[in-house]
Amino acid sequence: MNALLERFCRYVKIESGAIEGVSSYPSSPGQLEMGKLLTRELLEMGISDAAVDEHGIVMGTIPGTVPTAPVIAWIAHMDTSPEFTGKNVKPIVHEDYDGKDIVLPGFPSRVIRPADSPALAALPGKTIITTDGTTLLGADDKAGIAVIMEAVSFLLQHRDTQHGDIRICFTCDEEIGHGVDHVDVKKLGAKVGYTLDGEGQDFVEFETFSADVATVTVTGINTHPGYAIDKMVNSIRIAAEFVRRMPTDQLNPAVTSGREGFLHPYVLEGGVAESKIRILLRDFEDAKLVEQRELLEDLAKQLSVEYPRAKIAVDVEKQYRTWRLASLWNRARLTLPRKRCGASAWNRRVRWCAVGPMARD
Ligand SMILES: [Zn+2]
Repeated sequence: MNALLERFCRYVKIESGAIEGVSSYPSSPGQLEMGKLLTRELLEMGISDAAVDEHGIVMGTIPGTVPTAPVIAWIAHMDTSPEFTGKNVKPIVHEDYDGKDIVLPGFPSRVIRPADSPALAALPGKTIITTDGTTLLGADDKAGIAVIMEAVSFLLQHRDTQHGDIRICFTCDEEIGHGVDHVDVKKLGAKVGYTLDGEGQDFVEFETFSADVATVTVTGINTHPGYAIDKMVNSIRIAAEFVRRMPTDQLNPAVTSGREGFLHPYVLEGGVAESKIRILLRDFEDAKLVEQRELLEDLAKQLSVEYPRAKIAVDVEKQYRTWRLASLWNRARLTLPRKRCGASAWNRRVRWCAVGPMARD
């Protein structure tokens, strides 16, 4: 097994899923464990300033070989998605991929199909790594971490490679919108940062969403259903009506692309007395997030009039704000090293992840 593959398979076995709704940072102890392991490995490789801070963020420096070259940063996140378990990950290595559907042996009804995954369709003959189907794999973003760690090892063994100081930065809780809460940009001290995250290959992403999350709390009145006439106010029905009235032919992730934003209800839970809806607000323009918020508040107002005995509250929490590369000149500079590698496709916007704040206009 080659070093990069071995490294990746080792990292995915550490459970470091982010947990939503907890007050600690990072949100799970596995991220601290991951940070300690990476710090230890960086120190062992010879990155003498490698350290993990009180927020679990790992930083260190590959000393430059060209003193006048700008300082850049390589960034990746240690947490994995909270939407599926990342415990007991058993990575399966499919060497020389035959291009067919991949049946996940731990849960054979779960099948990864190239027809559904254009990135996979382009990879016959390559080595593919999947889970056994019972867990998340966690390639997002342990693939980024493994690549950075392997690049550190390479550059330390090839001191004739020309580069300035390269700052390594591994962050926490990206998956729950808090990836940069505790990143000290001054301490990082880089002119430009590259986040190794995303999907597929041959892309440099140059713009991200701005992001908020809303919690709509519907408070009803619960009574015995046998004697509920003129008394009961069922919050489940009102919450369902709230979601039904949200736009579906626009502002919906299932029908939008490019620079279009969306509202995405992703949690609906509760009982007769109280129901909660969690909704992601996403747009490339900060001002449009305000419009999205107003749309939710208007819906709450309408329903409050129709159900005067219910209480409907909308609380919006800020997650992160967009950055984008302002000029074509900057994008061209970003592209230059890629052309040297012979890469073709070169940029697109990010429709999901939280990334570093350094390159904001
Ligand atoms: Zn990611």
